[in-house]
Amino acid sequence: MTDTIEEALVTTAGVSPASGRRTAFRVCPLCEAGCGLEITLDGDAVGRIRGDRDDVFSHGFICPKGSTLRQLHVDPDWLRQPVVKRDGRFVPVSWDEAFAEVDRLLGPVLAERGRDALAVYIGNPTVHSLGAQLFARPLVRALGTPNVFSASTVDQRPKEVASALMFGGSLTVPVPDVDRTDLLLMLGANPYESNGSLATAPDWPGRIEALIARGGRLVVVDPRRTRTAEAASEHLAIRPGTDPFLLMAVVQVLGAEGLVDTGPAGPHLDGVDEVLALAAPFTPEAVAPVTGLDAEVIRGLARDLAAAPTACVYGRMGTTTALFGTVSSWLVDVINALTGNLDRPGGAMFTKAAAGAANTRGRGGTGRGVRLHRRHSRVRGLPETLGELPVACMAEEIDTPGEGQVRALVTVAGNPVLSTPNAGRLDAALATLEAYVAVDPYINETTRHADVILPVPSALQRSHYDLALLQLAVRNVAHYSPPVLPLDDGQLSEWEVLARLALVAQGMGADADPALVDDLTARALVDAAVADETGPLAGRPGEEILAALGERRGPERLLDLMVRTGPYGDGFGARPGGLTLDVLIENPHGVDLGPLEPRLPEVLRTPSGTVDLAPEMIVADVPRLAAALDTFAEGFVLVGRRDLRSNNSWMHNVEVLVKGKPRCTLHVHPDDAERLGLADGADAEVRSRTGRVVIPVEVTDGIRPGVVSIPHGWGHDAEGVELSVARRHAGVNSNELADHELVDPLTGTAVLNGIPVEVAPA
Ligand code: SF4
Repeated sequence: MTDTIEEALVTTAGVSPASGRRTAFRVCPLCEAGCGLEITLDGDAVGRIRGDRDDVFSHGFICPKGSTLRQLHVDPDWLRQPVVKRDGRFVPVSWDEAFAEVDRLLGPVLAERGRDALAVYIGNPTVHSLGAQLFARPLVRALGTPNVFSASTVDQRPKEVASALMFGGSLTVPVPDVDRTDLLLMLGANPYESNGSLATAPDWPGRIEALIARGGRLVVVDPRRTRTAEAASEHLAIRPGTDPFLLMAVVQVLGAEGLVDTGPAGPHLDGVDEVLALAAPFTPEAVAPVTGLDAEVIRGLARDLAAAPTACVYGRMGTTTALFGTVSSWLVDVINALTGNLDRPGGAMFTKAAAGAANTRGRGGTGRGVRLHRRHSRVRGLPETLGELPVACMAEEIDTPGEGQVRALVTVAGNPVLSTPNAGRLDAALATLEAYVAVDPYINETTRHADVILPVPSALQRSHYDLALLQLAVRNVAHYSPPVLPLDDGQLSEWEVLARLALVAQGMGADADPALVDDLTARALVDAAVADETGPLAGRPGEEILAALGERRGPERLLDLMVRTGPYGDGFGARPGGLTLDVLIENPHGVDLGPLEPRLPEVLRTPSGTVDLAPEMIVADVPRLAAALDTFAEGFVLVGRRDLRSNNSWMHNVEVLVKGKPRCTLHVHPDDAERLGLADGADAEVRSRTGRVVIPVEVTDGIRPGVVSIPHGWGHDAEGVELSVARRHAGVNSNELADHELVDPLTGTAVLNGIPVEVAPA
């Protein structure tokens, strides 16, 4: 720790420090919370980073990760120029050489085997970058491959699919109105450590403490006594993967006891009777043995949800990364609807985002819905959802010979070797590729297999707007951040990297101008906006709109267009006083657009114009759930866990976040430890069908007997990884244990919580 700002000031790598003290404000892009930061600089030297007390959403809250943007920016392992592999070693090259190498590598694969031989993986950090969000899509289109994978199919696709089927849009996800609810039932989520997910809200701890202080209740359902569970009014230590049985039983009680009251959403709901009929066999007594919860506790929970003035059910990782992930995700909102809490203050509500949301465009209240399972993966026949294949089949698409075998790969951020199931097989498969191009700042467990790595600037050198995450916020907010620091000499912005890569993939050569992609993207967005007969630009000449966007280029031009044509935008003059990018720039602490308001039916994009409470695809999966009542596997299972100082695999190269007691340990209940002969601090061997790890034991009564836990994102000791700090705190890769064949069949999402394992002393 340094005592003064002066001591803390550092000269950023590759940047000549300009003089002059200044303060910059920007949104932290590291997780879904989107906290406002106040950054003290002297010229280009970064000093203190703390929470922005004037931020309209976070009000000064910050977690330990937020203040480490400086460390990330100056990390010597962060690549500042492209590298290509020569004789097994990465060597720095110019951008022109790097793109020429990409062209040289991808060209023959595409020419000889076609686009089926190519795959692309879009990693989770992409959603935390404005440039990547806007330009990854044109890249994917330019690659033209059916083999599109993303981090969404690691853990959230079940919720997206359930929302798409019920409401007509994959990001039309009701979020808990945590600031106004009286009772929050939270399943498989730990926002005290993760800062929330699919429910954007800075300072979850403060919001939960406020809920309890105003006389509300938080009930946490989790096999572990997490920090969130410790703060809760009640903790139900359920058996992993059995949430849908609990939720079905709640629905059964609501129906059997005449507690259904759909409230204001009632006229917009379709399928109430069908859902109640489906739930009939799942009585609390029937599900008690499989869930490990007392039948009367389940019954009481249902009654409480029905009786509370307002209540909300919210499910996350534990519910979506399980065998019945889509069914669980669906049931969460079924209960919100049946208790009258869907779309009402204090319940589960829909955000109205300022930019980029499909559910604010076009005619509201009806739509085309979504088409799912339009094709299946080559090797195992896993279903496509939302244009992507599940990551659970990525390795086999690479290592299984035959027509359409993937031989070339492009990754944009992410680290699938640490974050996707059966990681060992994927690691081996990547080594066999004929061409692999990574857009990434690090030589990590995944990108060490690349032939070319194209690095992106640090977060402080990028502008930011949470296009996706602000569609899931618990309050309507808009917040744009310009770059805090300039690019170094010779650095390319992220959008230019992605655009040039797209042009190479389209056969336009290594030196094509990225402005081509920018102009085409802007033109396409303008054309869509003027074609929207319900929008503010209906019928106006596209050229006029493009001219009105002025000199801006890249993400800023596209964002300005999206904001101005959004629900709060100025409509290019049609709505004087409305939002523009200039207005956002004038408000560095963000613009508060107010609490969530009811949006039914205009938020819907289903063909029926109603909330489909009984989507055919999900209803067809209920018999599988019923059959599992008697067959749900007994035995030891592995679940994951989060840590406040960690963020998947991203933050392990920051010393201040990884120092101290090792956190990659095996949590074991004392009874299990005694029975298995496991000693605290000694090593245990954990085996699954797909892998084996040796890991230190941490005995704790904060976990349910029969369950063990390992955090994911670790395992940094592979040969060739150039993460000097992370390597010293390597840990083990828990995804070597995740079985790629154990999936939710509706989405192909693999089980990450509830993996059958055997545990023994090492
Ligand atoms: S909670 Fe998330 S957004 Fe907020 S400071 Fe921490 S990492 Fe950044």
